[in-house]
Amino acid sequence: MKFTDLNPHGGIGANCTLCETGPFRFVIDSGIHPKHAGNDSIPRHDLIERNSLDFIILTHCHLDHLGSLPLLSRHHPDAPVLLSYASSILARRMLSNSVSVMKRQRNELNLPELPLYGRGDLSTLYDRMKPLSINTPQRVEKEGKSIEITLHHAGHVAGAVSVEVKSEKERIFFTGDLLFNDQRTLDGADLPLEPVDVLVTETTRGGTARDPGRQRESELVSLLEEVGKTLNRGGSALIPVFALGRMQEMLVVLDEAFRRKAIPKVPVFCSGLGMDLVNHFHEISKNTNRLRFNRKVLKSMGARPLPRKVEPGRPPPMKGIFLVSSGMMVEHTPSYIIASGLLGSDRNSILFVGYCDPDTPGGQLLTTQTGQPFEFEEIDCVEPVRAKIRQFDLSGHADRDELLALARKLSPKTTFLHHGDPHSRTWFANELAGDDMQLIDPEPLITYET
Ligand SMILES: [Zn+2]
Ligand SMILES: [Zn+2]
Repeated sequence: MKFTDLNPHGGIGANCTLCETGPFRFVIDSGIHPKHAGNDSIPRHDLIERNSLDFIILTHCHLDHLGSLPLLSRHHPDAPVLLSYASSILARRMLSNSVSVMKRQRNELNLPELPLYGRGDLSTLYDRMKPLSINTPQRVEKEGKSIEITLHHAGHVAGAVSVEVKSEKERIFFTGDLLFNDQRTLDGADLPLEPVDVLVTETTRGGTARDPGRQRESELVSLLEEVGKTLNRGGSALIPVFALGRMQEMLVVLDEAFRRKAIPKVPVFCSGLGMDLVNHFHEISKNTNRLRFNRKVLKSMGARPLPRKVEPGRPPPMKGIFLVSSGMMVEHTPSYIIASGLLGSDRNSILFVGYCDPDTPGGQLLTTQTGQPFEFEEIDCVEPVRAKIRQFDLSGHADRDELLALARKLSPKTTFLHHGDPHSRTWFANELAGDDMQLIDPEPLITYET
């Protein structure tokens, strides 16, 4: 197989991998880099000859995998886009939101190339989408040769798949973003464990060992305890979340906690995209028993949209739980604005439930000591850190030891390290160094042949 990582910045970002096996040429995922904007945020599609792809595969709908798919598809109009049924539903809502965000950013960030694509590109993309049944091989033929593509449940988020590609010569396995643990709303990964020739594995959590005392269930208990303490002292709790997946999971967790009276009943405020996606989750759950979600949860817990009069640096007009995006408290998002109004009072708390990149405001807040000033640069506001800041280990990604065990079970001849920061990849490289396999930590834009 030939493998080229088209994400120019390396690490986790604009995921996009070009693969060639026999006469077949295809791409897995086409994302945007969450820390860059405009042309700087997209993969190097220009390195692929126009209209030369046989197909494109989407693993799931987080924007680091999906965000530039309309652009790639525009350049390869004959390539069908293979994905799960759930992703075919969720992609529409996510991409439509991206168009609106890019239109806004055009002026805010002064980037004339925005929006990178419009609604017309979205409708042509939707015509090219071909949902595949899970665990069901799909045969593709070309020049007298054939390959089989099989999607497998990857946990992580609704619709997420790992991808198995079997040619006459080799069996290739891409983990995509992977979670083995069951969540409240979604079952964990369900993968075949036969040996493969080539493994492309995510390495997101290579830099962090899981503390054995902090398993998923006990982390949820600690999170709810912290929410309860905050509400009992008359404060508000901000839980920054990704709109896709984590928000719906937390809605169900909070609803259960209200019913058990584990925390006082207070208003729960949610941001718009996450609330819209609730309807999509509801529709998807009717067609699969792996996703357990009912839109009634919003009504049952009395969830409501954010109050209109939220002003930067001022306490929100109502107290309660703020379950809003983005998960890393990135600038220009509701969690960033709400945090600026809650940070200065020791009654409040800001509770992270996922990974924060150290360069994002969320990552920076996690390393700022209590009492120190914290600057919300974009809105020109400085607040002392008085609210309680905590992070809970509820990641949507497999632990590094689980990924290592998977790599050994699949006993590949070649392993590519993917979707991880340099220090995370280094951990895997060191651990697997003694194993009988070729290990490649690919440089961006370089083609490797196995
Ligand atoms: Zn993801
Ligand atoms: Zn990802």
